[in-house]
Amino acid sequence: MEMAFCFEQNSSWARLLTAIHGHCWDDSLPCWTNASGTWSSIVQTINNLHIQHSMDTSLLRLHIGNGQQANFWFDPWFNGAPMATRFPRLLALETNKNGVVADHFHHDSWVHSWRRNPRSGVEVDNLNSLQDILHNVTFTSDNDYWTWDGGSFSVSQARHIIDEQHLATFSRPTSWCRQVPIKINIFIWRLKLLRLETKANILNRGMALEDDCCNLCNLHVENETHLFLHCDTSKEIWLAISQWINLTLPNWSSFNDLWAWIDGVPIIRNQRLIVTTIVFSSLWSIWRLRNNINFKDKSFRKCHVVDNIKVNGFNWLFSRFHKKRCNWNQWLQSPLYSL
Ligand SMILES: [Zn+2]
Repeated sequence: MEMAFCFEQNSSWARLLTAIHGHCWDDSLPCWTNASGTWSSIVQTINNLHIQHSMDTSLLRLHIGNGQQANFWFDPWFNGAPMATRFPRLLALETNKNGVVADHFHHDSWVHSWRRNPRSGVEVDNLNSLQDILHNVTFTSDNDYWTWDGGSFSVSQARHIIDEQHLATFSRPTSWCRQVPIKINIFIWRLKLLRLETKANILNRGMALEDDCCNLCNLHVENETHLFLHCDTSKEIWLAISQWINLTLPNWSSFNDLWAWIDGVPIIRNQRLIVTTIVFSSLWSIWRLRNNINFKDKSFRKCHVVDNIKVNGFNWLFSRFHKKRCNWNQWLQSPLYSL
């Protein structure tokens, strides 16, 4: 049940944010769902995380002092879960749903305003369990107070929790290749995270597309692995590259295979530098070909791709090694021996 986090009802998160930033309980935050502004964005974002079960409600605890601030049914004031979640059948019988905890305690005993008395079965079991919980509640003269994950709230901890849930992780550290331009490094970084704007990724983000088909072959769903590694067009390109550099390229089943191959192929250091550059140039050229076909730009065609890979590789590599004599013919004939 998400009612505890419904911000139209002066919710727990709104109260937490109020408490964190030192306002009194009655201060209102611009956190109505139809409001605009920073607070509204923060509150709605966290609310969405909760609804998506991306953030555990037990992180947020409300501790009872005098019981004058905590909503009896909707605030998580006992073991991190609202009574409304624990006992929905009793909530349905409650006539004072918005009362605070202290409203339910008069003359040293707990009182409720049931629409009718709980009947046998689940309702009575719920009532017995509720009474067991309430039996252990003690009040103090202090205000009720919030804690975050057992301690004080910190933005960095909240961000860490959110990042863990939402950001892609990549087991291998991203290393910048100094021999290729920044835009290529960024392209490769996004490719490693599988975050390029392929049709599969665009559809996953809920955007409308006419189809999800790879425009290089018109046969398969266009995702990164298919487009760059498995598509017949890409395989033709890799075969041509393999023949050019005189090195057998495996049929990589995934990008992890590809990155592992670059790191592990038995060649000397300078040759690994060259192979990395050529692989990056190949991936970039396949992406360019894909974009030009998708956007009906005929300036860059399939027949240009391999030549483009050679030109880019040469320019990237040798423009950053000024002291090396660069020889275009050497590059064309045996690129792995160019440095
Ligand atoms: Zn394809």
